[in-house]
Amino acid sequence: MNTATIVGAGIAGLATATALHHAGWHVTVLERERSLSTAGTQLGIWPGAWRTLVSLGVAGRLAPAAGSGPMSPGVGTSGEATGGVSGGRILRPDGTVLAQLSLRGRGPGLHLVPRMTLLEALLAGLPEGTVRFSTPVGPDAPAPPSDVVVGADGINSAVRAAAFPAARVSDAGLVAFRGVAPVPSGGADETWGAELLFGTSPFPGGGTNWYACLPLERAGSRAQDPLTVMRREFAGWHAGVQRVLEAVSPASIDRRRLKWSQPMPSYVSANTVLVGDAAHAMLPHLGRGGGEALTDGLVLAESLVGAPTVAEGLRRYDDARRAPTQRIVRASALMARVSNRTRRTGARDLAVRALGNLVTLRG
Ligand SMILES: Cc1cc2nc3c(=O)[nH]c(=O)nc-3n(C[C@H](O)[C@H](O)[C@H](O)COP(=O)(O)OP(=O)(O)OC[C@H]3O[C@@H](n4cnc5c(N)ncnc54)[C@H](O)[C@@H]3O)c2cc1C
Repeated sequence: MNTATIVGAGIAGLATATALHHAGWHVTVLERERSLSTAGTQLGIWPGAWRTLVSLGVAGRLAPAAGSGPMSPGVGTSGEATGGVSGGRILRPDGTVLAQLSLRGRGPGLHLVPRMTLLEALLAGLPEGTVRFSTPVGPDAPAPPSDVVVGADGINSAVRAAAFPAARVSDAGLVAFRGVAPVPSGGADETWGAELLFGTSPFPGGGTNWYACLPLERAGSRAQDPLTVMRREFAGWHAGVQRVLEAVSPASIDRRRLKWSQPMPSYVSANTVLVGDAAHAMLPHLGRGGGEALTDGLVLAESLVGAPTVAEGLRRYDDARRAPTQRIVRASALMARVSNRTRRTGARDLAVRALGNLVTLRG
């Protein structure tokens, strides 16, 4: 039986473990934390990534399927584990609508899944004992020998540092705040101002998932109360933003500096392979990083199963995933520039208004 050691029990690590387990491999996942990470709030899962969850046999554990009404405030009412939207709006700080976007593509729309719900659903499909918690991998504690070592340890990957010393991540000069507010959601809205962005979506159970993105120089220091910073920076924005900022408790706010990966010439070095943010961290402005991490896991397992040797399987994975994921890293950076890095908003807003109503987003 082939063996894989996977470093990291995040989305990429657990998806890879699931796919390799289904393929008959013996899998061990080493996670430095004592339990699954509670960081992050809700993930938007695009149709392509949802199809990956179906292939992994996990989608059924995330019932019910996405709602069908555009921005339906009814989605995510009490008792539901996940929700979804099939439309969203881009607003100006005064609340006027710049664009109404349709997310109807081939799939049902954008699925909204709390990160913890997704991690638990992935873990539930693995044999007992597959994940070893409190087991950090690093220079003093390398991954044990196996046919394949998978670096799924996120943006600051220790596996990448050891096996790909030339790889670099860049600081975007942006800070994201996010959380869940105990107020009913008005829908999937993103408000774009001058260098500031504020987004909301329905959170299963009836709350509002929210996120805000600010330039580093306006985001205050880590020591500062994030709510004070946000109330100052978003003062005067429309009622939907104020309603959330009034309801949020400071202790529940996650703050993180945003970084993205410089393109790597390969995700494979000998029998070590990178998946998820360890390979291609991207800015969150297209909401694609988690979905791409899921797809990495599935494609890696399919490539290994279909190839005559492990080395050939790893080469096929690299060929299949490097170009598309690096394109999304670039597209996410472009989206961040347009939505979050523009000081003069007049021309941008005119263009978004003209183009937005013609666009149907697909994922
Ligand atoms: C503000 C924000 C909003 C986002 N919104 C979306 C969205 O809507 N949709 C979407 O698809 N994506 C979204 N993303 C991106 C998504 O969160 C990431 O792409 C995804 O979490 C990457 O998963 P991962 O498993 O590769 O890495 P991680 O989630 O970082 O997991 C890495 C795991 O490895 C463990 N680990 C780290 N180092 C070691 C070590 N040395 N030894 C052992 N274990 C280790 C960590 O504890 C962790 O459990 C967003 C990101 C941000 C910042």
